[in-house]
Amino acid sequence: MNGSTIIRLENLNKTYRGGSPLHVLKGIDLTVNEGEFVSIMGASGSGKSTLLNILGILDDYDSGSYHLAGRLIRGLSETQAAAARNRMIGYIFQSFNLISYKNAMENVALPLYYQGVPRRKRNARALEHLEMLGLRDWAAHMPNEMSGGQKQRVAIARALINRPRIILADEPTGALDSATSQEVMHLLRRVNTEMGMTIICVTHEQSVADQTDRIIRLSDGVIGSIDTTPYARR
Ligand code: ADP
Ligand code: MG
Repeated sequence: MNGSTIIRLENLNKTYRGGSPLHVLKGIDLTVNEGEFVSIMGASGSGKSTLLNILGILDDYDSGSYHLAGRLIRGLSETQAAAARNRMIGYIFQSFNLISYKNAMENVALPLYYQGVPRRKRNARALEHLEMLGLRDWAAHMPNEMSGGQKQRVAIARALINRPRIILADEPTGALDSATSQEVMHLLRRVNTEMGMTIICVTHEQSVADQTDRIIRLSDGVIGSIDTTPYARR
């Protein structure tokens, strides 16, 4: 678990402008090591998604610094940001964000489509990933024919297909019952240990956070505390 630093935030600030300015992140300092599985907790509106979107290069920040694998992520063009995201980051959302008119295999293969991988090759890789997540028989099914847990497994397969260094998950169990949530967390732990992927998971469920290595608590735009979890202590 003591890999090199993959994420380093120093005095990171983010303000939403538009109406009255909202200072959401107020000087965040955070280091995540390669191979860690951490969670971010905090009340609704505390800035968890904002932080995750900055880590995922989906949004910019105002001041401070964000280094990803040693590279300063700041003011990238759309093209540069997309390239860095493709290479480094897989995203998982609460609402799965699958494309409703594409089947499971096509959804998983989508990131490869954007990279210009030929159809035959991307479908073969998508099937391998569905197999790994126990969904080989569901490849031809559409999202509306699948349960919430199955849809989230498809979304995990899609996040993994580029072999990113980091998985960012925004409340990945937020729409699932507790048994299915446990299943998804076990899968993420397998991805973490077997593939060595760094995972950052936003959640407001203590039972979910307890399955990660440490919990970063966000409140009023600052990191209140960082706790080692029962999982990491056992
Ligand atoms: P969380 O994920 O912890 O619930 P968010 O990061 O989504 O919190 O939001 C933090 C605060 O910023 C909230 O008050 C929210 O309303 C506000 N906010 C989020 N996104 C935007 C945006 N694009 N423009 C303006 N305000 C936003
Ligand atoms: Mg959120």
